[in-house]
Amino acid sequence: MIGTTADQRIRKLRAPKPWVDPWRAHGSLVEEERRPDGTIERALTVFLAGAECPYTCSFCDLWRWTIDGPTPAGALAWQLKEVLDATPPPVPDRIKLYNASNFFDQRAVPVQDLPAIAALAAPFVGVTVESHARTVGPRTLEVARILSGSLEVAIGLETTHPAAIEHLNKRLSLTRFAQAAGFLADHAIALRTFVLLNPPYVPAQEAVQWTVHAVEYAARRGAAVVAIIPVRSGNGEVDRLQALGHYTPPTLSGLEDALDRCLGFAPTVVTVDLWDAHRLATCGKCSSARIERLGRINLTGRSEARIACSACGGQ
Ligand code: SF4
Ligand SMILES: [Zn+2]
Repeated sequence: MIGTTADQRIRKLRAPKPWVDPWRAHGSLVEEERRPDGTIERALTVFLAGAECPYTCSFCDLWRWTIDGPTPAGALAWQLKEVLDATPPPVPDRIKLYNASNFFDQRAVPVQDLPAIAALAAPFVGVTVESHARTVGPRTLEVARILSGSLEVAIGLETTHPAAIEHLNKRLSLTRFAQAAGFLADHAIALRTFVLLNPPYVPAQEAVQWTVHAVEYAARRGAAVVAIIPVRSGNGEVDRLQALGHYTPPTLSGLEDALDRCLGFAPTVVTVDLWDAHRLATCGKCSSARIERLGRINLTGRSEARIACSACGGQ
């Protein structure tokens, strides 16, 4: 996978990778999330350390959380057990095993570790793992078969903008995404989708419109959940694209517009990623209230009036 001009350029612009311990998870968090049937789940996300993803998407900074070389056998189960032992009861409904790569890639998740991982995940009703659309296949079915809970696969669609999807260097076409979505649906495996706000090469004034378009595309292909993720700079390549005028950082009002316009795609649950939302905050007076409003809508799916602000006008 490594070797194209774009791959080499993107890798060269990266800052040095911090050392990552393959025997220790980066962290975990428990959140409440709405599901398509309206129930609220408690979901434990575990950020696992493992092999780097072989793709080199222009916007991605997940490589910082990965090791050089393949994930050592036994390491993921070790990490997971440590996190589960430290998680206070009651057991959450769902576990998300996020390894900053593709769960069905043997280099990232050694096949001999699957039974141990499945045993540790047995108390959870739902299990979410992440994968590039191109690594969805027979291994996905194998994982679904050995899990006690039901499998959900999180796939980055990112954008439906024809030029932007090419420039992402993700090697993903809409056809390939639709094939993966159809494969999951045929096997009663749930689909979660990531969609970007302000990917490079989408004109800033069209950013929200294209995000809504991608969310609708994923919803029509059966996504149970779509999470909208604002693209951030800082990985080298995005900063280069910003300097060239091909990337404009997202704004909090853009994120609000995107979510407000995506509340009609039920049963698909649409949320915005607020893990890094403080980076979008520009107004000291209203930003916290606006981020809290987005958090409430994530959970309820119900429209709310925008937060008025005399200082910034809500921009
Ligand atoms: S496929 Fe996912 S993890 Fe891999 S480089 Fe692209 S965005 Fe990052
Ligand atoms: Zn304000």
